[in-house]
Amino acid sequence: MEYSLTELQKTVKQMARTIAQDKMLPLRAELDQKEEFPRSVIQELADTDLLGVYIPEKYGGLGGGCFELCLVTEELSRICAGLAVSYAVNALGSMILLEYGSEEQKQRYLPDIARGKKLAAFALTEESAGSDAGAIKTTATRMDNGYILNGTKQFITNGGEADIYTIIALTDKERGIRGASALLVDKETPGFTFGRKEKKLGIRASITRELIFEDSPVPLENLISKEGMGFPMTMRLFDRSRPGIGAQAVGLAQGALEAALDYAKQRNQFGQPIISFQAVSHMLADMAIRLEAARALVYTTARTVDSGTKNFSTESAMAKVFASDAAMQITIDAVQVFGGVGYMQDYPVEKMMRDAKITQIYEGTNQILRDVIASGLRKKTF
Ligand SMILES: Cc1cc2nc3c(=O)[nH]c(=O)nc-3n(C[C@H](O)[C@H](O)[C@H](O)COP(=O)(O)OP(=O)(O)OC[C@H]3O[C@@H](n4cnc5c(N)ncnc54)[C@H](O)[C@@H]3O)c2cc1C
Repeated sequence: MEYSLTELQKTVKQMARTIAQDKMLPLRAELDQKEEFPRSVIQELADTDLLGVYIPEKYGGLGGGCFELCLVTEELSRICAGLAVSYAVNALGSMILLEYGSEEQKQRYLPDIARGKKLAAFALTEESAGSDAGAIKTTATRMDNGYILNGTKQFITNGGEADIYTIIALTDKERGIRGASALLVDKETPGFTFGRKEKKLGIRASITRELIFEDSPVPLENLISKEGMGFPMTMRLFDRSRPGIGAQAVGLAQGALEAALDYAKQRNQFGQPIISFQAVSHMLADMAIRLEAARALVYTTARTVDSGTKNFSTESAMAKVFASDAAMQITIDAVQVFGGVGYMQDYPVEKMMRDAKITQIYEGTNQILRDVIASGLRKKTF
């Protein structure tokens, strides 16, 4: 497919591919096994300015948008989705700030995030508030000079590794989710600690932890936008970030297709390469069709996000659902093409299959997102 990439887009895509190939590939299996954060590779992404690809140049970034972020995320995911999600969540953790923060807040944080001096994370989910995000209980009680934060956030990517956290908490409990606000919280804040590192099925090179707040003071100047804006800003954030989950899925699927194709050409059974059997070659053909369709939808949606169009909730949900379902099927099929060795850790496809599952779950499960799409359809006239 011809996507007419600009010079910047070609450059960031190539740089991400080189870093993933040269720096992550040698560490991939070990970090997956030991469940360790790919700090040296994240540093490499910072040193080459890829960490700030979506941040405007005036704050030290490369001035790209959702599409450039997707291109980098896809290339990283082709090698390791655990690395890619650690990278992508850095953007998720700073996007509300980027879109709604004051000039002073942006100057205070964005240059450090762009340079990789500070890593970011985003925390909405709680034990009783997953799909039902409106049920959060974490409170930010107003005091003289700011807020006192109390509560526990669950399953937070980059938890403990990040230096700055966007926390969604209730500043007005009586109003429920309408009383939620977004606060920037530094790692060093008193009373802010981390729960145990979760042991996961996939994306094991990314770190997932609880965030625990016990009477943690947050200064007033760390409130983003206004009190009560937390939920609408979060929904808007997810509309912008879901193509990025689609890009993770596309990268994963690309890696799986390449691995399966290579293997099918060199594995002989019945005196011939297994790719010569129609059952195998048609499986590869279906994998390629799903992958290209997913990539086309993700790229078009990311470009729509960057185009200034106001409402892209439905399209964004479609890109995430379609690409993640495609990646799940493609990685399952890749294991099938490999046969027995596909099930072993000596080959990468079992990891890709484990990694693909999460793309159907986070940033809105595919069930919830089908509701979002259906609700968009009800309002649409063709
Ligand atoms: C590895 C990992 C990393 C994560 N990173 C972050 C992060 O950085 N920040 C953050 O805030 N959160 C993060 N999350 C949380 C993630 O977004 C939630 O897990 C996800 O939204 C689903 O919520 P839940 O796990 O509570 O599932 P539940 O909401 O309990 O859902 C369980 C099942 O019920 C279904 N279901 C629930 N309600 C409905 C409904 N109304 N209609 C149909 N089906 C329904 C769901 O689709 C799902 O199949 C992460 C999660 C994981 C596993």
